[in-house]
Amino acid sequence: MKKRNSWVSNSSSSSFICEVCGEECGGMDIGLSDCGMDRCENEHVICERHKLDSEEERTPEQKKEIVIAQANKMKEFYLSGKATWYTEEDIANLVQEEEDWINEVQQIEGDELAEWFEYGEGYDWWLDWESEHGFSSEYCPICQFQVGRPQDMLAMVLDETGDTREEVLRRMKEKYGTYRQAKDALRF
Ligand SMILES: [Zn+2]
Ligand SMILES: [Zn+2]
Repeated sequence: MKKRNSWVSNSSSSSFICEVCGEECGGMDIGLSDCGMDRCENEHVICERHKLDSEEERTPEQKKEIVIAQANKMKEFYLSGKATWYTEEDIANLVQEEEDWINEVQQIEGDELAEWFEYGEGYDWWLDWESEHGFSSEYCPICQFQVGRPQDMLAMVLDETGDTREEVLRRMKEKYGTYRQAKDALRF
């Protein structure tokens, strides 16, 4: 009998931990959205349900600036000579494409711009951008300082007091003696 090849799938396992509530989610070929989680622009992974309502959603004008900035970034990248896999002709075409796109977007204004982001090409562009860059920090409770990550708060305290981690650990040992006693006293 022929032995079965165990190398049959390319699936990979991933797991995510919410940085607000600590919920874990994982599995084969699973993505953030399958877990009901999302990533903010500062790389915080949180459950969808912790997202804040925001009045300060980016305006169409602010989104437009991002669209144009992104195109300029691409243009600079093509011109930097780092994309060595392209021919000179490719580069010229790609740069031209970005310039055309910038001109096109620049001309969209006012109500037309709002509609462009709501129903038009801008809608898809923005979805792609958010899935690549993370959702806007206004909706993230960590970015809005409503929920603190221990490592962020520790960095703040160390910066303010001028303490080092080693110094803090030394004092913990001196004050509590054992880890168990520190745990009970500090409730971690
Ligand atoms: Zn959560
Ligand atoms: Zn965040």
